[in-house]
Amino acid sequence: MREERYDVVVVGAGPGGSTAAKVAAEHGLDVLLIEKNQEIGVPVRCAEGVSKRVENFVSLPKECIATEAAGARIFSPDGTCVELSEKTARGKLAEVGYVLERKLFDKYLARLAADSGVEVRVKTQAISILKDGSSVKGIVVRDVSDDAKIFADVVIAADGVESKIGRMAGLETRIKPADLEVCAQFYMTGIDVEEDFSEFYLGNKIAPGGYAWVFPKGERSANVGVGIEASRSRDGARALDYLKAFVRRKFPEGRVLGQVYGAVPVSGPIKSVADGIILVGDAARQTDPLTGGGILNAMEAGKIAGEVVAEAFERKDFSESSLREYEERCKELNEKLTRMYRARLLVSKFSDKELNRLARSLEGVRFEELNARELLRELIKRNPRLLMSLAKLFP
Ligand SMILES: Cc1cc2nc3c(=O)[nH]c(=O)nc-3n(C[C@H](O)[C@H](O)[C@H](O)COP(=O)(O)OP(=O)(O)OC[C@H]3O[C@@H](n4cnc5c(N)ncnc54)[C@H](O)[C@@H]3O)c2cc1C
Repeated sequence: MREERYDVVVVGAGPGGSTAAKVAAEHGLDVLLIEKNQEIGVPVRCAEGVSKRVENFVSLPKECIATEAAGARIFSPDGTCVELSEKTARGKLAEVGYVLERKLFDKYLARLAADSGVEVRVKTQAISILKDGSSVKGIVVRDVSDDAKIFADVVIAADGVESKIGRMAGLETRIKPADLEVCAQFYMTGIDVEEDFSEFYLGNKIAPGGYAWVFPKGERSANVGVGIEASRSRDGARALDYLKAFVRRKFPEGRVLGQVYGAVPVSGPIKSVADGIILVGDAARQTDPLTGGGILNAMEAGKIAGEVVAEAFERKDFSESSLREYEERCKELNEKLTRMYRARLLVSKFSDKELNRLARSLEGVRFEELNARELLRELIKRNPRLLMSLAKLFP
């Protein structure tokens, strides 16, 4: 079998992998980034929404942005709307952001990695890992022509929700069904959507254990999707069935130009380092358990992974104890995700009546005077019994 050697091999060219590869290369390391699909960013398995925090990581070229949102509308089951917008919140509270073109965004991130000296290979799949005792020493890849052993001092596994590399290395990456959100999404056109508002629909009949979303993507078009907790669907109904029901009610006139199916880990973070290996992004379960958003967390963790690996090279120590610095620096992120996981457990138990009561309780709130934490406090103050446990999570 062909043999090659790099300092670092990164598996998966999503936002986490490309960011990690780029940062490691910027520190002078010899990096290989592999992607099993033939084209980076395709197929898209995402609703493509991000907050403007994305600009902390990368300056976005125009073509990567489908829509710039002025705000978000959250609808309770009876249709009560809570609007968070730049207008009402004067930029203080609003979770404003972008709807991306991920097929271009992911390619752009991989291009930045390549420009930093990373060797990028598509249609190249990691099929197993190489080990020396307990230590990961590389991977075996399969491309169109043959298999090859790729030796590396560190493997960064950014291989997404379906991650197998971590498990092969002995990390516990299994997810129980209650901690997995299954999603179905249509890219729709010919529908009445307000172009600069993202919409979220809550309710146990709409999306048990999750929500439905409408993220505008240009004129009369949007990503319309539903995510449900698999273990809670009624009568074995699938995410697609909930989506079809939602679309029938909301956009009967719409046309479907694309379909997306996928899953989001909502378990909160797991142990993500071992000798010679670091997990990043969805592979490390770093998606927000409450919202399902994972793009920016993957980029944040990818950046940290790239830096920590560079420092490990200075020490010439690739052991778990050396790489544990990654978990140390992800601590703030991971603590937030763990809090969000606990919040998810509470929120997903609310009945439709309770969700309506919460939404209605915000009537008269002056959003322009509150930031997100203050709004949460106001919500808790107005619903002390319902939200007592939440108050402990966000003191
Ligand atoms: C329906 C849906 C909607 C979503 N909407 C949003 C949203 O609006 N906003 C948001 O922030 N997040 C959203 N997410 C989550 C978001 O897509 C992920 O959190 C994000 O893509 C994680 O980035 P990543 O780099 O960790 O993994 P990924 O983007 O999943 O990238 C992993 C890559 O690894 C590759 N790969 C896997 N195994 C191998 C292998 N063995 N060898 C080589 N390559 C391999 C895969 O092909 C893939 O390209 C959504 C997810 C779903 C399913």
